[in-house]
Amino acid sequence: MTTAVLQVDRLCKSFGGVHAIRDLSFTVNPGEVLGLIGPNGSGKSTTVNALAGVFPATSGDIVLAGAHVQNLPEYERVALGLARTFQTASIFPEFTVRQQVTLGGNVTLKSHPLSSVFGVGTHKGEAETVVARVDEILEIAGLLAVADAKVNTMSSAQQRFLMIATALAAEPRIILLDEPAAGLVSHERETLGALIKTIRDRGTAVLVIEHHMALIMEVCDRIVVLNFGSKICEGTPSEIRNNQAVIDAYLGEAA
Ligand code: ADP
Ligand code: MG
Repeated sequence: MTTAVLQVDRLCKSFGGVHAIRDLSFTVNPGEVLGLIGPNGSGKSTTVNALAGVFPATSGDIVLAGAHVQNLPEYERVALGLARTFQTASIFPEFTVRQQVTLGGNVTLKSHPLSSVFGVGTHKGEAETVVARVDEILEIAGLLAVADAKVNTMSSAQQRFLMIATALAAEPRIILLDEPAAGLVSHERETLGALIKTIRDRGTAVLVIEHHMALIMEVCDRIVVLNFGSKICEGTPSEIRNNQAVIDAYLGEAA
């Protein structure tokens, strides 16, 4: 048996009296796209935020590539290979697209973070490795043609792809995407679907929350369905599409 990339075990998160997620357990395997779907308020974003370490879970275990991370701060989870995207358009609006993605890639450098300032401690070859990786990521994200443009000149769709590329540059074990298709038009959604599959195929597992059912059904290997913070079903896209509890709770209204 291969080790899961991410194992979530009996995760709970309460906000005061609101049980946003209750006893939630699921696994993301290497080379897998796992979808997380459910009605509004069912706990999808809370799950992603608890996994990323935005806030602590109330109880339960989060195991990332064999390491218990539920008590670790967000940046240590990032260092262990857990990436997520941010809704904010850009971190440094005056940066070029290439500079921002390169900054994302530097998370994994073994060199001291201040080596570029003091010129010490750089591991030979690291800078070249990052440059090659950044170019490849710009290409798969469809951003190579605008690599030298300023981040603040990107369209909102390009910014979405840029945030994914920035997260990918660190070569995470898993990337968490919360509604990546929101606001995208049809052909941009198709590009996003292709990118998600490419991310998976180059070795990063994906956990994706999405309301757009055609996209979810197309890209996911498995899907977990939440309702009122609890998992009501888990299966392949065709199993989910035909599950009566899922149709009653969610698909009936979404279709
Ligand atoms: P979804 O992403 O599935 O739409 P959320 O995870 O955002 O759902 O929300 C789940 C429940 O938790 C909702 O009842 C929501 O109001 C509540 N909730 C989410 N975040 C907070 C917060 N920071 N403080 C208080 N309640 C929250
Ligand atoms: Mg949400």
